Amino acid sequence: MARGVTRMSGLFLRTLREDPADAEVISHKLLVRAGYVRRVAPGIYSWLPLGMKVLRRVEAVIREEMDAIGGQEVHFPALLPREPYEATGRWTEYGDTLFRLKDRKKADYLLGPTHEELFTLMVKGETSSYRDFPITLYQVQTKYRDEERPRAGILRGREFTMKDSYSFDLSDEGLAESYARHREAYQRIFARLGLEVQIVSAMSGAMGGSASEEFLAPCEAGEDTYVRCPATGFAANVEAVTTPAPPEQSIADKPEAVVYDTPDTPTIETLVAHVNGLGLGREFTAADTLKNVMVKTRLPGAAEWTLLGVGVPGDREVDMKRLEAAVAPAEVALLEDADFAAHPFLTKGYIGPVGLAKNGVRYLVDPRIVTGTAWVTGADEHGRHVVDLVAGRDFTPDGTIEAAEVRAGDPSPDGGGSLVAARGIEMGHIFQLGRKYAEALGLTALGADGKPVTVTMGSYGVGVTRAVAAITEQHADAKGLVWPAEVAPYAVHVVIAGKDPAQAEAADRIATGLADAGLEVLLDDRKASPGVKFADAELLGMPTTLTVGRGLANGVVEVTDRASGERREVPVDDVVAELA
Ligand code: ATP
Ligand code: MG
Ligand code: MG
Ligand code: MG
Repeated sequence: MARGVTRMSGLFLRTLREDPADAEVISHKLLVRAGYVRRVAPGIYSWLPLGMKVLRRVEAVIREEMDAIGGQEVHFPALLPREPYEATGRWTEYGDTLFRLKDRKKADYLLGPTHEELFTLMVKGETSSYRDFPITLYQVQTKYRDEERPRAGILRGREFTMKDSYSFDLSDEGLAESYARHREAYQRIFARLGLEVQIVSAMSGAMGGSASEEFLAPCEAGEDTYVRCPATGFAANVEAVTTPAPPEQSIADKPEAVVYDTPDTPTIETLVAHVNGLGLGREFTAADTLKNVMVKTRLPGAAEWTLLGVGVPGDREVDMKRLEAAVAPAEVALLEDADFAAHPFLTKGYIGPVGLAKNGVRYLVDPRIVTGTAWVTGADEHGRHVVDLVAGRDFTPDGTIEAAEVRAGDPSPDGGGSLVAARGIEMGHIFQLGRKYAEALGLTALGADGKPVTVTMGSYGVGVTRAVAAITEQHADAKGLVWPAEVAPYAVHVVIAGKDPAQAEAADRIATGLADAGLEVLLDDRKASPGVKFADAELLGMPTTLTVGRGLANGVVEVTDRASGERREVPVDDVVAELA
């Protein structure tokens, strides 16, 4: 049999009829059922032959486009010494996400979550003058992040493949050009991968600016929420955009109250039960991270209710352990932001699924998750709740409320209309880093005038393994995977439907012809029923299925397009020329 034809009878593959028990999203279910990946531990996966082929094709597209913008491929180890990350502060900043380990001499190492430090040091070692710049380097490499909730299979791994590239320029204009080239390369990459993406601003204050942008693949399974203005094209991650402070609210004209009652001092269990009772769309457990939590409780011996706003500066998540600490009176002082009750906006005011900022620190609170007693006295024009917690005082936004997170229906910050919201998977992220890393690690070059210039950098990432899952999310259907041509493991899946030796012979001939024409062909020559073979062909997802069955007696074979389901009969003698 010719090169380019793989016989299924010999393929290392076993398909499964049942979805894996831990799978929530379609890509996880299908990639496991179709035998592309297998789970080893949470967020850690092995790749089987079909999965490897897709992964290699995705990598090839990325390499071609990176090479096309002048990127040069290098490779760094995943196992890295502590010192460079110490120099930039990231050894500590990364927190629990960083996998840290020690060697036999008790020296500290880490498994690289991203490689800015190492690239900076490499360029520092290999360059000296302005003549050596600009430079763009990239790698396709395994990254490690101890994600808090590895979920959705390879969509969020703890070990995953990323293409990361870094640009090194001497001027701001140079950096802007490098950034623009990457932006275009990313658009070409995602188009070739068959991924629909929305480019969104990823940094606040960068209205229409380009200091950082994300490429989000619109999809329900995505963990990012973005807003978009159909009228103007404005698009931003909700984390990145703020609306002006809300207008002054009058509580007097708000309608009837809603009262939430829980025991005096809530325990973690009553909190969880309460939160679940609010019907937020899923069941929480005590181990969960709750976003935007506000707690009101009565401390022992105190006559008054005390409001404990719970938040983490610069972070939107509050973990239950901290929350528990917060509601245990003796430990309130441990909470960095325990003086929340002193802030006017927390004693009375405008709260909701909004961000509140004071002195550059953002606090997020959500009245849907309130324990103790709270009176939801009404909603503003955006559907946000106004909560009256200390009776008798008027709410005045007094400057403590600087901005609120945007929501669907809000006016677009560029004034062009109202926003719509959607979810997306972060596929790529491009970032003008500037001189931060070069300064921390001493990367300079001698300028034409003989004076040293600090290098300015950009960093650019694409989730390679994540792309395989995201393509699945956007293309798969109820029957299985559906691969776009550019990444499909095989272009044509030839099925021998019956037992007639003439069918096997014709299928062999066609498969060889297609392979000779340069296509990769999967030939189902197994001794299985036609039903099993067709179901597997749909599950495995090659773009075209060619069935050699009863029609052969009349000189025809059947060609099925996986994506549209469209079938047609083609004369057996024409089929190679037609598909090749
Ligand atoms: P996320 O917001 O999804 O956690 P991130 O912003 O932390 O991603 P970056 O540091 O910007 O990720 O990394 C660049 C790219 O690497 C991301 O755009 C994404 O495609 C991919 N990526 C990041 N984390 C993971 C992961 N845990 N599993 C798979 N791919 C990932
Ligand atoms: Mg992350
Ligand atoms: Mg992100
Ligand atoms: Mg990112």
